[in-house]
Amino acid sequence: MDTVLLSRQNLQHQSSGRATILVRLGARSDQLTYEPGDHVGVHPANHEQEVERLLARLEDQPALNDLVCVQRRQDRQTAQGKVQSWVQDTRIPPCTLTQALTHFLDICSTPTCDLLQHFAQLAGDSSDKKQLEILSQGGSRFEEWRWEKNPTVAEVLQEFPSVCAPACLLLSQLPLLQPRYYSASSSPHQYPGEIHVTVSVLEYRTGGGTGPVRQGVCSSWLNRVSTGDSVLCFIRRAPLFHLPADPSAPCVLVGPGTGVAPFRGFWQQRQIDIERGQNPCNMMLVFGCRYSDKDHIYKEEMIEAKNRGALREIHTAYSREQEQKVYVQDIIRKNLSQEIFQLLDSQAGHLYICGDVTMAQDVSQTIHEIVAAQAHLSPSEAAAYIIKLKDENRYHEDIFGITLRTHEVTTKIRSTSFTFWQESTIMTGCS
Ligand code: FAD
Ligand code: NAP
Repeated sequence: MDTVLLSRQNLQHQSSGRATILVRLGARSDQLTYEPGDHVGVHPANHEQEVERLLARLEDQPALNDLVCVQRRQDRQTAQGKVQSWVQDTRIPPCTLTQALTHFLDICSTPTCDLLQHFAQLAGDSSDKKQLEILSQGGSRFEEWRWEKNPTVAEVLQEFPSVCAPACLLLSQLPLLQPRYYSASSSPHQYPGEIHVTVSVLEYRTGGGTGPVRQGVCSSWLNRVSTGDSVLCFIRRAPLFHLPADPSAPCVLVGPGTGVAPFRGFWQQRQIDIERGQNPCNMMLVFGCRYSDKDHIYKEEMIEAKNRGALREIHTAYSREQEQKVYVQDIIRKNLSQEIFQLLDSQAGHLYICGDVTMAQDVSQTIHEIVAAQAHLSPSEAAAYIIKLKDENRYHEDIFGITLRTHEVTTKIRSTSFTFWQESTIMTGCS
């Protein structure tokens, strides 16, 4: 689907040092059909500088405007014996090398072990060759190197300057640039012909915060494209994360940070429902961010939605405004246990959780504890109760994947494995 960037707005205060952007996309044709809760798959483009850095290191480049077309050799068994032929690789359409590296190939992820093996074979220097061979075996040396540097293809070629990489190797071996998914942050009834997304612009340092700055491919691209530019995307239906079919069913929406993205579509939809004469349901939002004045995104819109009856209650956890962190699950546990349980148990209500995987697990754990305490159930009975809610499609989760807090998750895994390794070494030493 071809859309156009209508506008972009940073929702965070400039003093926050981070950016969460509201991106408004307009459909070029009228084939835009989605519901709040659905996902938008966005096809990004790689950064021009990264493409140029890579082009500068490639051998055997075709002329700038020449179309390239990748063909693979295929062996066929025939009555006359084995016959070799060349067949067109349909992964990428005929295009220039620059277009292939910009729009179709993933040049920012660390090369796979297979590609490193190819680089090892092409290295002119014996030390480069040896190191690349070790890395291409995978295992802990590769993992350490990747964690430390998270190098792009161009950076690997910079680290091993004796590698002569032909363009055709990358055209045939690099993985395809994948679309990124974002929750629809609007209601099509409130904004006909438009779809909005709320994007946290990813920027981090490699090596646990000590290495060079890296930017996420798609989020930084969406933060760069100009108004009026094309944004290719598609809708991926998420029927398990839609509003309840019965508009009067009460809902609890839990979404800290960018996790609030789909709920903006929910409250917009409820505003429309109210305007159309429906009775407002009890919709409670539990939101979390660091500071009330820096990253409380959509604050005014939330207040307006409450004033217009679309949101009955708004509860906010500001995690960094006091010594002890306060998260959404702390507010739920402390202030909302009984209300949420009643809503789920006796009012056929729905619970929605959206955002990062660690938060979703922690909130889920809290809900299990609340159910156990309120209904006097054992932990396994509480788990069965939640499974039943899921079976009835009343417990909804939309999780952004483990990538949201990759560093924290990786560090946790690394420190857990290190502790395990230390403990097993000590135990082995004792026995
Ligand atoms: P990429 O270039 O893909 O970089 C991400 C990679 O960077 C990670 O995989 C990891 O390898 C690395 N990385 C990240 N942080 C660190 C770190 N600290 N240290 C080391 N390495 C790190 N995002 C939103 O902002 N809004 C949404 O509404 C939204 N909805 C989503 C819905 C679904 C169903 C899913 C699956 C994801 C959603 N996401 C959402 C996440 C989004 O799809 C992208 O993953 C996100 O924008 C990052 O993409 P990127 O291309 O900018 O970063
Ligand atoms: P955020 O601002 O980092 O977090 C929102 C709130 O959730 C903060 O108050 C945070 O507190 C709190 N929180 C942290 N851990 C929690 C937990 N276990 N349970 C409940 N609440 C918790 O959220 P964001 O704006 O959505 O950005 C998240 C980060 O992920 C950003 O750094 C962004 O760049 C990155 N990101 C990555 C991807 C990806 O790679 N796929 C996609 C989107 C965003 P504290 O921070 O004070 O602990």
